[in-house]
Amino acid sequence: MPRNVMRITLAALLLFPALALPQDDKATKPPAIGYDDTPFLPGGKWRVHDINRPRPRVITAPPENRPPSDAIVLFDGKDLSQWLSSRDSKTGPPGWKVENGYMEVVRDTGHLVTRQKFGDVQLHIEWAAPAVPHSSSQERGNSGVIFMEHYEIQVLDSFQNITYADGQAGAIYNHIPPLVNVSRRPGEWQSYDIVFEAPSFQGGKLVRPAFFTVFHNGVLLHNRQRVLGPMKHKELPPYTPHAAEERFMLQNHGDPVRFRNIWIRRLTGYDQP
Ligand code: MG
Repeated sequence: MPRNVMRITLAALLLFPALALPQDDKATKPPAIGYDDTPFLPGGKWRVHDINRPRPRVITAPPENRPPSDAIVLFDGKDLSQWLSSRDSKTGPPGWKVENGYMEVVRDTGHLVTRQKFGDVQLHIEWAAPAVPHSSSQERGNSGVIFMEHYEIQVLDSFQNITYADGQAGAIYNHIPPLVNVSRRPGEWQSYDIVFEAPSFQGGKLVRPAFFTVFHNGVLLHNRQRVLGPMKHKELPPYTPHAAEERFMLQNHGDPVRFRNIWIRRLTGYDQP
C-alpha cells in the first residue's frame, strides 16, 4: 500500500472506529429457522417454533377457479371417466350428458358415484339449477352432493322458492337448515366448498359422528356442524356402520341440474408432510 493511502486509511479508522469492528450479529448471522430451547406445547412432542417440526408439504396455489395441485379432479368439463352410474344399486357406465364444459343430470339414468372412495375430504363443486323452473318446493332444481352415499348437502333452486328449511339449498338434508339462503337465480352458476369429516365406527358402534363445514357462493352455511345420521326423506335414521372410505355421489332427482369444475382433496393431519 502506498504510504499516503495508508495514512488516509489510518485517519479514517481513527475518525470512524466502527469501520474496524466486525459487523453486528444481525448482519452476519442468518435468521433463525427454528429453536430447540423453547417451551414444549401440550402433548410434549413439539416445542414452540420447534426447529425439527415437519414443514407442511408445498403444493401449487391454483389460478382462480382452478384446482390446487394435490386435488383429484373429478370433472374437468370433458368426460365422466371418474364416474359410474349407481342405477338400481349397481354400478355401470354413467348416462348423464356432457356438453359445453358441464355435465347434466339425465332423468332415469341413476345417480353418479365416483370410482374412487373417500373419507375425510375437501370438495369444490359448481352447479346450476335449470334456468326455467318448471315446478316448486322440492321439485325445482333438486339434486344433491352426497358424501359416502349417505350424507347429503342439498342442491336445490332455492331462489324465491319456499320449501322446508332443512331441505333447501345447502341444508344438511333432513335435519339442519343452512345459516342463510345465499342462492343465485336459476340458471346461474353457484359454488359449494365443503369440508366433510367422515364418521368412524368400532365394533359396529359409532365412535365419532360426521361433521360438515359448508360455504355456498363463498358464504358460510355450516361451521363444523355435527351430522345426526344419513339423509332420508321424512325420516331420521340412525348411523349404520360402513367402511372408512366410501364413494362420493351426485344425486339424480330427475331435474336437469348441471355441474362443473369438481375437485376433491383427501385431508391429512398436521405434521404429515
Ligand atoms: Mg336432493
